[in-house]
Amino acid sequence: MIKKILSQANKLHDFDYAGKRVFVRVDFNCPMEEGKVADATRIESTLPTLRFILEKGGKLLIASHLGRPDGFDPEFSLAPVAEKLGELLKEKVRVMPYQLDGENPRQWKEASEKIMMMENIRFYAGETKGDEALARFLSQTADIYINDAFGASHRKHLSVYHLPKLFAEKGIGLLIEKEIKAFCRVLKDPEKPFVVIMGGSKVSDKIKVLENLLEVADQFLIGGAMAYTLLRACGTDVGRSLVEEDRLEIAKRIIDEAGRLGKDFILPCDHCLVKTVDRPEEKIYSSHIETGYMGVDIGPETIRRFSEKIRKARTIVWNGPMGIFEMGAFASGTTKVAEEVARSGAYTVVGGGDSVRALRSLGVGEEIGHMSTGGGASLKLLEGNGLPGINVLLDSP
Ligand code: ADP
Ligand code: MG
Repeated sequence: MIKKILSQANKLHDFDYAGKRVFVRVDFNCPMEEGKVADATRIESTLPTLRFILEKGGKLLIASHLGRPDGFDPEFSLAPVAEKLGELLKEKVRVMPYQLDGENPRQWKEASEKIMMMENIRFYAGETKGDEALARFLSQTADIYINDAFGASHRKHLSVYHLPKLFAEKGIGLLIEKEIKAFCRVLKDPEKPFVVIMGGSKVSDKIKVLENLLEVADQFLIGGAMAYTLLRACGTDVGRSLVEEDRLEIAKRIIDEAGRLGKDFILPCDHCLVKTVDRPEEKIYSSHIETGYMGVDIGPETIRRFSEKIRKARTIVWNGPMGIFEMGAFASGTTKVAEEVARSGAYTVVGGGDSVRALRSLGVGEEIGHMSTGGGASLKLLEGNGLPGINVLLDSP
């Protein structure tokens, strides 16, 4: 599927933009603080697409969501985002009225302003539920549809899924192209050895990812809370560690499948343990988990084993932190693994919201081949079936 996206989807340079209005769906769901954009990474990552269209004489109608408002709520207005975008582009950005009653979509299309931005697309109930009238209105506001909202493309929401079907000319922006290329490089003919590092909280979120990667990768280094469901499935006593009881069966099946395929599937052999996360100063390291203790990070011997594999890797996919990295006392597994990954020279793709946050907070982002801008979307892509908001742009999805 992923190769098909690159060969079949129209790219940004496939259209003639002169005098046209382009509806660009972006993911400007930025962290906000006191009514201002606190981190503009998501805006910056779409600037190449927006600049390209402007330079070719096109006009923009930009749409994005921000947070999860329940209907109109000024707290979730995109006005501060529009202001930040204006600063970065050194252009004026006009925010369109939220109320569409009485608005004429053709006037939006033909307006003289070069850059217009819709209000938060999630103010409209139709965005998440799918609503023909809203889709029809939006389809008349522009000539061309471009999706560059990688982080929103795993959802079947109106602006990424229903709307593009109403456009004859539609394609992917430069950010999505870059994301797809990075994932393609690891999913199709990756350089070997290919090491997958998986952690984070839930096995249930990542079962399908593991299943898909079992086919292409050689080694699996498992940490984080998900390791305890897998250890439990092998019959190991994990004390009070986080376990998803209803996933034990599927966890066991994954481990058996890895064995059958002859893959190295490595679970932690020692742990950082506490009785309660509120008393990190009482943490101990042990290979055995005593009753009453819970695992909150991988231990030093596990770090050593993981590091050995990482040093030999040529391709790495990393999703999910090795422990409760948000607390300094339990961050050393994630930190050490991050340092090894950064040093390894392997082509590395990091997906997952918390994994990317962890790496950025440790300051090792620069050495990484690709840090995905989409948490949920990157996981969905690793499952191997493309993404709804991108597949819909293909000639024969
Ligand atoms: P990502 O967003 O990168 O996909 P997840 O959302 O799956 O990652 O997991 C991140 C969360 O997992 C973090 O909040 C972290 O604190 C938590 N976590 C990691 N290890 C453990 C553990 N051993 N016990 C409980 N929570 C954990
Ligand atoms: Mg997460």
